[in-house]
Amino acid sequence: MKIAFIRVNMFEHISSDAMKPILFGIIRSLTPARHEIVFLDERTERLPDSLDADIIAMSVETFTAKRAYILAKKYRTGKNVIVMGGFHAAVCSDEMLEYADSVLIGDAEDTWRRFLSDCEKGRPERKYFSREDAPLPPVRAAKDVYRHSYHGIGVYQISRGCKFNCDFCSIKTMYKCVRRKPVGLIVKELAAMREKIIFFADDNLFYDKSSALALFRAIAPLKKKWACQISMDAARDDALLSAMKRAGCFLVLMGFESLNADTLAEMHKSANIRADYEEVIRRVYSHGLLIYGTFVLGCDGDRRDVFEKTFRFAVKNNISVTNFNPLIPMPGTGVYKRMEREGRLRWKKWWLSDTYRYGDTAFIPRRMSPGDLRRGCLSIRTRFYSVPCIMKRFFGNPQHLKPYNAFVFLLANFISRREIKKKQGQLLGGVLGASDTDKT
Ligand code: SF4
Repeated sequence: MKIAFIRVNMFEHISSDAMKPILFGIIRSLTPARHEIVFLDERTERLPDSLDADIIAMSVETFTAKRAYILAKKYRTGKNVIVMGGFHAAVCSDEMLEYADSVLIGDAEDTWRRFLSDCEKGRPERKYFSREDAPLPPVRAAKDVYRHSYHGIGVYQISRGCKFNCDFCSIKTMYKCVRRKPVGLIVKELAAMREKIIFFADDNLFYDKSSALALFRAIAPLKKKWACQISMDAARDDALLSAMKRAGCFLVLMGFESLNADTLAEMHKSANIRADYEEVIRRVYSHGLLIYGTFVLGCDGDRRDVFEKTFRFAVKNNISVTNFNPLIPMPGTGVYKRMEREGRLRWKKWWLSDTYRYGDTAFIPRRMSPGDLRRGCLSIRTRFYSVPCIMKRFFGNPQHLKPYNAFVFLLANFISRREIKKKQGQLLGGVLGASDTDKT
């Protein structure tokens, strides 16, 4: 069979910050060699007008759902099979089945081969479910599927899921528990990767201290340079930070989310509630690591002054890179259910709306207007990535001036500056007849 894998974008747009989508390397490894395969990444190339394939497979997130449905209509021939998976499948599988023949719910390692074998028999089922209670099966991602270099940065995933349960985060809609790989396998797979710089795509690399220290000790001899996402409990621990640095870490992504303790409680962000953020930042910087901080704005405790306060905090502490995000009610999350119950969703399915644009507010905030939230986030994003602010933060932190850190800092800031301008205000789904999918 001929199989086309598509990494769908939010809209027609070539991104300069696209990371390698490891899922497709994993699916390639799970696919017997007799099948012919092509991989298309819409973030790095324009998709063709038609696709000659027996199976078209797309991994779909909520932000790319509308685009995936538009592409499904465009590429459907009546003879091919359209299959979709990804985070959105975990909560919106019935919606997906209006556009796809089959939906894979959960990890592809558990479902892809069964789906493929049913296709060969000519009888694919509508839904396939993964086994979340079992450890992740060892599947080494194939390298020969990608045509783009992704700036030479490798992506690797040690675990899936997170031990926390933040109210706005969609991770628990897909993973009720954490699935991890054994350390021996991680070392073997990382050693086989030709890239020297790795991004660990785990939503939270830190599970517990002893397993994290064992992991860092085991990967240190590989001499890779890497970045990862960690929760605030790990960022407060000197022994862990020092072990991370020795193992090659150069940047940590941390969710600060809010400066307001009541808002953190509202989010169920338990790891952050008693953290002294300025102390955490000093500690992380003292180990020579850069910080990518994320904030979520527009929660019920937030007033209109939240933007200025958060911006000043990030600039005062010379945070290397940040994301100031409006709160987004992702389907299946606690926030979505609460907003729906309280009648505060502006569109029931904002991700399919003809009028929802990237950066818009999808709900009615408690203490500001939807427009205040949209404009407030955009304004501080734009100011944070203005050239004077980039320079202030660059020279304001001695860690930024070290040669490798300086390169990472400047690259990340100027890419973020460009991407914000390109993405803000774009209609999800792009221009290919978006109105066909609006079911709000
Ligand atoms: S710590 Fe991060 S990944 Fe984990 S549930 Fe919270 S927001 Fe999601």
